Amino acid sequence: MREISTKKITETVKNLCLEAGVDLPADILDALNDALKTEESPLGREIIRQIIKNAEIAKKEKMPLCQDTGLAVVFIELGQAVRLLDGQLEEAVNEGVSQGYHKGFLRKSVAADPLIRENTGDNTPAVIHTEIVPGDKIRLQLMAKGGGAENRSASRMFKPTSTKDEIEQFILETVEKAGPNACPPLIVGVGLGGNFESSALMAKKALLRPIGRRNSGFDTCKWEKSLLDKINKLGVGPMGVGGTTTALAINIERRPCHISSLPVAVNIECHAHRFKETVI
Ligand code: SF4
Repeated sequence: MREISTKKITETVKNLCLEAGVDLPADILDALNDALKTEESPLGREIIRQIIKNAEIAKKEKMPLCQDTGLAVVFIELGQAVRLLDGQLEEAVNEGVSQGYHKGFLRKSVAADPLIRENTGDNTPAVIHTEIVPGDKIRLQLMAKGGGAENRSASRMFKPTSTKDEIEQFILETVEKAGPNACPPLIVGVGLGGNFESSALMAKKALLRPIGRRNSGFDTCKWEKSLLDKINKLGVGPMGVGGTTTALAINIERRPCHISSLPVAVNIECHAHRFKETVI
């Protein structure tokens, strides 16, 4: 067994929060630069230029990319040959989020109760997903998920006889309804199959896939390409001003489901995709 102190996890999560808040991932920046060459609307191109400039300033000045610094969503792949010392895993993650958000002067965006709405004051609790995997390492992935884009996400239980066209229509409607409120250009995560909760989780995980990496299944890969084309013909454009860059990517994940079910979840992510990962 490899022994790892939970203090190391706290320190790592703190650093991931600090980096994610100010440093837009390279694949998003590359995709935005590519979009500058293809966007047909002059105003759309200007918006993309401003988004890129904003990212450059945020990185240089260590200023948050956006006023909404997000809810921390943490994916943990815990090697089954790891023995954790010095405390409990979720407490260590939340302590890291608390320290990171305080140190980085990142906005605290968590209400303790959905109806009472009192701020917890340190951006905890994080939403934590833990998976036990082979090996003696811990992989930590942190997404600081903004509320505006998350609010535009949708889930629907289709009939098992529903067609691919009907599902496609639902995805396109969800993106179109999101419009400017989700701060496009978007990343669209789709979870197809599983059950009610696993489809939503797949959609969220789909957002972690780097831009440009297509689903390894031939059909799904082809579908991602054709759907991205259709999304970018909706005309929403960068920040909703109109144009041909409504999304940078659509990532679809699928898995087996019950014979009577066909769940579909669409998780919307804005251009300020705060995501960092590391392996301990
Ligand atoms: S949707 Fe994204 S870019 Fe828009 S306000 Fe929220 S975090 Fe910021």
